[in-house]
Amino acid sequence: MNEEILQNIAAIQERINNACKENGRNRNEVKLLLATKTVPTDRIKIALQAGQTLIAENKVQELKEKYEVLKVIPHTNHFIGHLQTNKIKDLLKYDVSCIQSLDRLNLAEKLHRRLLFENKTIEVLIQVNTSFEESKFGTSPDNAIELVKQVAQLETLKIKGLMTIGLFSAETEKVRKCFRLLKDIQQQIIALEIPNVEMQELSMGMSNDLETAIAEGATIIRVGTAIFGKRIYPDSYYWNEGIK
Ligand SMILES: *Cc1c(COP(=O)(O)O)cnc(C)c1O
Repeated sequence: MNEEILQNIAAIQERINNACKENGRNRNEVKLLLATKTVPTDRIKIALQAGQTLIAENKVQELKEKYEVLKVIPHTNHFIGHLQTNKIKDLLKYDVSCIQSLDRLNLAEKLHRRLLFENKTIEVLIQVNTSFEESKFGTSPDNAIELVKQVAQLETLKIKGLMTIGLFSAETEKVRKCFRLLKDIQQQIIALEIPNVEMQELSMGMSNDLETAIAEGATIIRVGTAIFGKRIYPDSYYWNEGIK
C-alpha cells in the first residue's frame, strides 16, 4: 500500500513533467498540492516522508484531527474547502498558510477581524466558479474582480492569485474553457494594478485534468485520487454542504 502511494506520486510527477515540456512551461512554475481529504495520517505521512511538502484539507475538523500527528514532518498546509465563518477561529490554530477558497466578502471581513485580533496575516486565493455549476462554490466570474478589490482593502489578507475547480467532463475543451476563464480574469486583475494584490498563483487542475490546467497556466495543481486512491465519500459531501 505504501509502495502504491510512492508509485502514484512518481506517475503524477511524470505527468507534470510531460505537460510542462509539451506546453513550454518551466517545471519550477508548477507546484503539486496533495488534496488529503478522507486520507488517514499514516498515508499522508508516507507522501511527506517521500519529499512532498504541500498538503490541503477541505474541512477544519479533519485538519484539526490530523494536525498533531503530521506536524512532526515539516510541510505547508493550505485550505481548499468551503469555509464557514463559525470555523474561522478554529482554522487559524492549525498553521494554514493559505486559504485557497476565499469566495465571499462576508467571510473575508470576518477573517480580517479575527486576524487583526490575533495580530496575524494570511495568504488567500479567490475561488472563482468558472464552470457556472450551482453545485460548486466560488464567486461568479462576473463578481471576481469586485471581490478582489474589496478583499484588497483588508490588510491582513494577502491575495496571491485565484483558484477554481473546473467542470467535471471528459470533454477536454469544455474543461479548458474554465481554466482559460480563470487565466483571463487573472490578466484583467493584473492590468488593474490594485494595491495589496498579487496574482502569481493560479490553482487549477486535479487528478483528471491537470495536463489541461498546466497548458492553460496553472501554478498549483491539486491532486487527491490519483495519489491516494478513490475516496469513500462523494465530492458532493465536501462541495454541496452550503447549498440550500
Ligand atoms: C478533492 C479536491 C481536489 C482533488 O481532487 P481529485 O480529483 O481527487 O484529484 C482538488 N481540489 C479540491 C478543492 C478538492 O476538494
